[in-house]
Amino acid sequence: MLAIQRSPAVGVQKTAASCRSRGAAGCSRRPPPAAAAVPAAVAAAIARRRRARHTAAAAAAGSEARSTAPSSAPAEHAEASLPSLIPHTLEQLEADEELQALHARVQQQGQAALTREEAKQRQRSLDALGVQPFAQVLQAAGVSPLVRKPTAIFQLNIGLYCNQACRHCHVESSPKRTEMMSQEVAERCVQLMEASASSISTVDITGGAPELMPQFRYVVREARRLGLQVIDRCNLTVLLEPGQEDTVQFLADHQVQVVASLPCYSAENVNKQRGGGVFERSIRALQMLNAAGYGQPASGLQLDLVYNPGGVFLAPPQSKLEPAYKQELWEHHGVTFNSLLCLNNMPIKRWADQLVKEGKLEDYMRLLVDAFNPAAAEGLMCRDTISVGWDGRLYDCDFNQQLELGLPAAQHQTVFDIDSLEELAGGRIAVGSHCFGCTAGAGSGCQGATS
Ligand code: SF4
Ligand code: SF4
Repeated sequence: MLAIQRSPAVGVQKTAASCRSRGAAGCSRRPPPAAAAVPAAVAAAIARRRRARHTAAAAAAGSEARSTAPSSAPAEHAEASLPSLIPHTLEQLEADEELQALHARVQQQGQAALTREEAKQRQRSLDALGVQPFAQVLQAAGVSPLVRKPTAIFQLNIGLYCNQACRHCHVESSPKRTEMMSQEVAERCVQLMEASASSISTVDITGGAPELMPQFRYVVREARRLGLQVIDRCNLTVLLEPGQEDTVQFLADHQVQVVASLPCYSAENVNKQRGGGVFERSIRALQMLNAAGYGQPASGLQLDLVYNPGGVFLAPPQSKLEPAYKQELWEHHGVTFNSLLCLNNMPIKRWADQLVKEGKLEDYMRLLVDAFNPAAAEGLMCRDTISVGWDGRLYDCDFNQQLELGLPAAQHQTVFDIDSLEELAGGRIAVGSHCFGCTAGAGSGCQGATS
């Protein structure tokens, strides 16, 4: 199913009818797509940006320090004038009958109960295969106990709102999600960056579509002020959303590394996994990034793409797939990028739901277990990454965050419980049956293969 909105904190909203022509044109027999109410804070941020954009003085002053952007290749802001993708995404969600049934389950049972049920299903699959718990498998491989090293990557999930609703989204984002980081939590995260400057090198910003969150630019500016590398996990299509016309230039001005999802170089496969029209918009966004200098030699603007499998198989080696990606995207679309990161799909949330629906969960767990790689386990991202939820809770990784599996140490539950990320070093890492997704094959983490 697409877009299960399971969080009891959100609930499906009563929505106003949309008159966006793109969404209506794609639905000949159904009523026009309903539009989710954009969260008030998101709407306010968009309005602020629109006002700023239309202020001639601000434009003339170039207040975002444009001097750091490559002057020879300005971003094509005119490209960013397509209608929003959101009505089309909502149309697809509304048309999904399984979604409606599952939404009813969410309403009846709540998010926590469904997450527990999902864990039981994974465990039943492992039991049927006669597989030991992940922690014991690690121990047998000589990798246990899994403990935290000094934190190098500070990953912030600043909100779950997204203009897409992809089939494999482990965050279950969609335009119907409203959770987002408050200013108080964002400021606390900046304080922790300052207090942990000797340890961390990178601030990794994710969502949802982080660019749509009110705290995005504040966090970017503060992290860069502190001299930290910043990663924006970008879904690409967000760069063409109304109100985002200056985002490419903002990213370039602040030398933000863009890590962008593009699970295939074929339109058919991408649109099947991420929604109709996503591939075409993604290519336009990549062209805009290239025009701003991203992925170009010697620009210093890093553009990486992310591949994840479209079915019950593991990601191929990055070294094999990257040349094909580069050739296809250059020859057909004139797009260049730096590196391809290949990730496995984690057997959680939407992907787990789909596997259960198709009766393939046991097959997938067998695939992951059979491909267990001790070398991949050595490089697990949870060893040196800390993940912060939109509400300030701390997790060993983004996947644990979605499963609400907090840090084992009771005194380290939120950003307000610690004075520095250095306090977390040496702590035990919370693992579970889903972790087999990180140790299969070449391994899988937010930075790509782990071995
Ligand atoms: S773009 Fe990313 S966050 Fe948004 S629904 Fe797709 S996978 Fe989830
Ligand atoms: S799911 Fe998280 S905790 Fe488990 S192995 Fe992967 S990164 Fe580590």
